[in-house]
Amino acid sequence: MNAPMPSRTRRAAAALALAALALLAAACGKEGSPPVKGPKPDQLPVYHVDTGFRLPDSATWRAAKSRGHLVVGAKEDQPYLGEKDPATGVYSGYDIEIAKMMSASLGFDPKTIRFRTIASANRETALQNGQIDYYVGTYTINDLRKRQVGFAGPYYIAGQSLLVRKDEKGIEGPQDLAGKKVCSAAGSTPLQRIQRDYPKAIAVAYDTYSICVDNLLSLQVDAVTTDDTILMGFAAKAPDELRIAGKPFSKEPYGIGVPRGDNALRFALDDAIEAHEKNGDWKKAYDATLGLSGVPAPKPPAVDRYGSPS
Ligand code: GLU
Repeated sequence: MNAPMPSRTRRAAAALALAALALLAAACGKEGSPPVKGPKPDQLPVYHVDTGFRLPDSATWRAAKSRGHLVVGAKEDQPYLGEKDPATGVYSGYDIEIAKMMSASLGFDPKTIRFRTIASANRETALQNGQIDYYVGTYTINDLRKRQVGFAGPYYIAGQSLLVRKDEKGIEGPQDLAGKKVCSAAGSTPLQRIQRDYPKAIAVAYDTYSICVDNLLSLQVDAVTTDDTILMGFAAKAPDELRIAGKPFSKEPYGIGVPRGDNALRFALDDAIEAHEKNGDWKKAYDATLGLSGVPAPKPPAVDRYGSPS
């Protein structure tokens, strides 16, 4: 049977795992040494900048135009989705590519985007305060959030999953979480779902999923829960320590967050998403980023041009 490891051995194992991850992080950050299976800049599409584009009905677009560049909210610690190179400050990943495509369609050279890292819990406020023009970062569209912000898209559909240590024997799905410590990000839909549908689980919340993964590796929690896209990235980067347990158990349609009420911007982004899906940019970008964590490009979902919610 699985006799528990003596705690000293467990601590040593955890320290080793952490050291491995630190090495990996260092390798990713060093210039000239791309991350293992990381996004390859030469394989990324170059997006055509629509220099004649005008959107006078959008206050967000007008302000960006007079400023001269877009300010885009993103994540910085989600492998293959939104990652910031600590050495260069450069952001990369699938969501970052989506942000760049949108910028090109709005008439701004993607090279000029200023990215700002915004955690899950702070997205609505950042959009409401005008800190960012739009947000691209594994942001699930739902009715509650639609009361606070607008969403273009969806541009991808993820599903909530579980990440566990490779040697975990007792967790194969959310039904196994009773009495287990499960980590997720504050303000996220996966955290809410665990608290609502699996109240016997011990939910632990931090600002980011990378902190949750550190806690998983150091045996502080038993599982991390969020979208499969995010978890696959962490698992792909530490395949000897981590694995995905079971199947996705929700639908998380990813939208581009915009200030609520700026429907001109929202619909322009819907048009842009469709155009880049049609001209092949979407698939090329996916293959060079998120596709590297192992799942082939799906058919993109249909854009939902919803009317203003009350
Ligand atoms: N897609 C989920 C959400 O928007 C989880 C990922 C995240 O926190 O960004 O809440």
